[in-house]
Amino acid sequence: MSQQAPARPQFTGNAPALRALRAAITSGRLPHAYLFTGPPQVGKRTLALWLAQALLCERRRPGETEPCGECRVCVRVAHGTHPDVQAYSLARQAQASARTNASRELGIDTVREIVREIDLLPFEAERKVYLIEDADTLTEEAANGLLKTLEEPPSYATLILLGVDDSSLPETIRSRCAPVRLHAVATTEIEGLLRSRTQLPAETITRLAALAEGRPGWALQAASDSSLLETHDANVSALVEALRGGATARLALAERMGKRWTAGHRDEVYATLFDWLGFWRDVMLAAAHTSEGPAMHPSHQPELERLSAKGVETAGKAASRTLEAVGHLDANVNTRMTIETLLLDLP
Ligand SMILES: [Zn+2]
Repeated sequence: MSQQAPARPQFTGNAPALRALRAAITSGRLPHAYLFTGPPQVGKRTLALWLAQALLCERRRPGETEPCGECRVCVRVAHGTHPDVQAYSLARQAQASARTNASRELGIDTVREIVREIDLLPFEAERKVYLIEDADTLTEEAANGLLKTLEEPPSYATLILLGVDDSSLPETIRSRCAPVRLHAVATTEIEGLLRSRTQLPAETITRLAALAEGRPGWALQAASDSSLLETHDANVSALVEALRGGATARLALAERMGKRWTAGHRDEVYATLFDWLGFWRDVMLAAAHTSEGPAMHPSHQPELERLSAKGVETAGKAASRTLEAVGHLDANVNTRMTIETLLLDLP
């Protein structure tokens, strides 16, 4: 491997969550199972890998909580190649399965594999850490299949369930996991992260941090991959066109997004809504005449002006309705209908 990614997880913001995990490590009474919830790309996976490193690190001294980030173990955990740290997800399930529609929900086959594997003693380390990403998509059968393992995992095992929202998980699962909630990270903290991790000009950092809408993962990804900004612009264009096009255009856009969701592209639908949220915030700033710094949506300037003329309150309502729609997607209600309702409600 010629390019070595940094092995120190880039967790930013959500200090209370990190403090709680540190306290659990120090006390020596770590829960068997955690449930990390929060918006996509807010840092759930990064925090889970940090915990895995902290538990397995070869150089961490007793009483300390920070993994070294440099030893053989830390590096392999960060790169996803440590045999005692396994991450299950919709993507992994889709790879393992020949069924094309297998990527919408985590199914019983995946859970059976987890239950079987976790019973085997650790290969190298003293502990095993199992991440179950997209846990909020577990089918009822799969959730039931996981209950016994969640309640009494082998003494060497820690399970970390990750999901956007816990409301779609059965109470039986929630009650067996220690909850850790992650919230949108402050723009200034994301700016600090980008300054410490990239060589980007200050203006770009300000723009990316603002467009990230509280998601450090998105900001870091956008910093190294310009296609994210192109996608952002395309998503805002689609919204703007639908708004101009009236009911038919809005329903058509909702239908397209509903189909993407059903085809297993959940992250894409979430990202689109966050892109829209960024646009509405910009409209709000323009309406309040407090917009300063680099233009966030230079290619949508006319539309921004047209919409901001409707006033701060209208733009604010559009932003909060968009955020509400994000919450409704979590609850697994009909995605096309949620987006339809949102779009028909927008100015
Ligand atoms: Zn280490």
